[in-house]
Amino acid sequence: MTDLGARAAALRALLHEYDYHYHVLDAPLVSDAEYDALIAELRAIEAAAPHLIAEDSPTQRIGATPTDRFAKVRHPIPMLSLANAFTDADVLAWHDRIHRALALDTPLALVAEPKIDGLAITLMYEHGRLVRGATRGDGEIGEDVSANVRTIGSIPLTLRDPGPTWAIPDMLEVRGEVYMRIADFDALNQRLALAGERVAANPRNAAAGSLRQRDPAITAGRPLRFFAYGIAMSSDATPPSQWHALAWLRALGFAVNDDAQRCADVATALAYCRTWMQRRDQLAYEADGMVLKVDDVTQQAELGHVGREPRWAIAYKFPARETSSRLLDIVIHVGRTGVITPQAVIEPVELGGVTVRHATLHHADYIAERDIRIGDIVIIKRAGDVIPQIIAPIVERRDGTEQPWQAPVQCPACGSALERSAGEVALRCGNVGTCPAQLVRRIEHFVSRGAMDIAGIGERQAQQFVERGWVHDIADLYRLDAACFAGVEGYGERRISNLLAAIAESRSRPLPRLLVGLCIRHVGEAVAQQLADAFGSLDALAAAPAEHIAAIDGIGPTIAASVARYFAEPTNRAVIARLQQAGVVGAWQAPPRRGSALTGKTLVISGTLGALSREQASALIVAHGGKATGSVTRKTSALIVGSDPSASKIARAQELGVPVLDEAAFQAMLTLSAPYPTAAAAGDLPAAPPEPDRT
Ligand code: NAD
Repeated sequence: MTDLGARAAALRALLHEYDYHYHVLDAPLVSDAEYDALIAELRAIEAAAPHLIAEDSPTQRIGATPTDRFAKVRHPIPMLSLANAFTDADVLAWHDRIHRALALDTPLALVAEPKIDGLAITLMYEHGRLVRGATRGDGEIGEDVSANVRTIGSIPLTLRDPGPTWAIPDMLEVRGEVYMRIADFDALNQRLALAGERVAANPRNAAAGSLRQRDPAITAGRPLRFFAYGIAMSSDATPPSQWHALAWLRALGFAVNDDAQRCADVATALAYCRTWMQRRDQLAYEADGMVLKVDDVTQQAELGHVGREPRWAIAYKFPARETSSRLLDIVIHVGRTGVITPQAVIEPVELGGVTVRHATLHHADYIAERDIRIGDIVIIKRAGDVIPQIIAPIVERRDGTEQPWQAPVQCPACGSALERSAGEVALRCGNVGTCPAQLVRRIEHFVSRGAMDIAGIGERQAQQFVERGWVHDIADLYRLDAACFAGVEGYGERRISNLLAAIAESRSRPLPRLLVGLCIRHVGEAVAQQLADAFGSLDALAAAPAEHIAAIDGIGPTIAASVARYFAEPTNRAVIARLQQAGVVGAWQAPPRRGSALTGKTLVISGTLGALSREQASALIVAHGGKATGSVTRKTSALIVGSDPSASKIARAQELGVPVLDEAAFQAMLTLSAPYPTAAAAGDLPAAPPEPDRT
């Protein structure tokens, strides 16, 4: 056998194994991205040397032979797969091919639908009643999962009357996807982990595993949903286009994805796909791409299919955000409030354009419940800006050398016994006073941009200050002087003077920033702002009983208790006294009310405004009685857009029906009660930082 032939045979064997674990056992051995890379390699070999195409090649078939777990069903119309596109160029090449094949001189209309990651099923209705539900299996023969399908609430058992124009056909076969929402999947995995059962790698596998249960009662207890995306066969006439077919399916009582869109041409479809790629992290379900379908059913029939894929549709895949790698070690991170977080050190792996070396393991119970061991091959997920996380070990890939991990009983930094508060999952080092790791984190937080904003101090410097014994608490930062740095490597004269100047300059930071810097639990930028406005000074806040703090609109008893507890602690009072002696007083003047045009309104700003900085605009909103926040939610009154706004915020606002206003409209809102100040006048106002994004 040639080298190429041997490689093709090896790939076939590997992919068969992966197919079996994925399609039959619902427990993949590798991530989809790894699978897709291997199948792409096999396809390339087969394209270069067609004589190497074996009949049983995974490129020639779909899914896997159905199991004996269920009765077998032959699909009257085969259930196909979809060709994949990974770039705009792939989509354009597909479009040009079919546009030419159809000999069109007008644009080709397409329907773009999110590709929800679940599993395909087919539903057979006779005289409007559901008679059978089956999985795709190998596309020709699937598994009869009727009993399980009947437990899914969003699958109609009886069709609804679709209105005057259409009748319910005697025979109707509908295709769609069974899936699980991300929140439901997380809750299910949590439940499984607590019960000592195996967790699913992702919502797709959870959905497939849940649907393919022998006992329908188990399926019934799983949060499965269904949406319909196509008609395979009907005894009566059906709508002439995909777009109308979706509406018709909805009228018959099926759940249909509201986010499908008819696009007049391929450019519009690509733009729609791009919007969706950006919004991917805000979806309630996992989507692995968009499906583009030729809208006109006659054109679909003319194009037909090639092999296992229809020629009239293509899946435009989103970039992968899951992969697998080896867990090399678990290290402990001690947070600024003493929370202990285990972190995974993994063999570096490429994911979403970055090299991932570390991932969170959340907390010790998470590791124990999932039986994650050092040396395991683990599934890693990185969604949006969230830090990468380990989802689960791939148990089948163990070779016996993996080592279970023991949760620490002592803080690795100070040796204190770790504690766990009632009702909390996290372990905590209670040595707030002298734990060096906590102190380093607190310094990092104190000097950070949203707090005292001291340039020149980062993690390394904080570590050094603590190790050298220069800083025992944050107030000590103000006692640093040139003598400390004398002769210390890396500290030249200029660097020392810049650093000391930055520290000195930070003395004048306003009260909200100082409050953020103190690391009081539950006190972020928005709460700090409210506390500053309500009490006006650090001393007044420190003297306030919890009930007075809780009386502030929007501050609940948990935050109030945490603030009161912080100020009751003698060590904290001592640090504050020393900060004040050093001239760090947190000056504050509550912003003058300019009007009440925005009372009760919550605004989000996106993009650059012409006349004002973001901070000034936020301060103006507060001064007019409103709230400035960072993310668009149902509670947002309006999204104000400047130049170059975030497309995802606009899309979110449109989705929620939140008005999107430009800067002129924003000005108009303010001038209802007071003149729109110039940038200079607005500069007099204390900055009101927007609340952090919480979506
Ligand atoms: P696919 O999942 O890429 O695409 C076809 C499927 O998309 C359809 O069968 C349907 O279920 C689904 N779909 C979702 N929304 C749709 C919509 N609106 N309209 C039409 N279809 C829609 O292809 P496939 O053949 O099901 O699976 C192949 C893929 O599965 C591979 O590319 C790979 O990523 C993954 N896989 C992974 C492993 C592994 O070990 N990780 C093994 C085998 C396959």
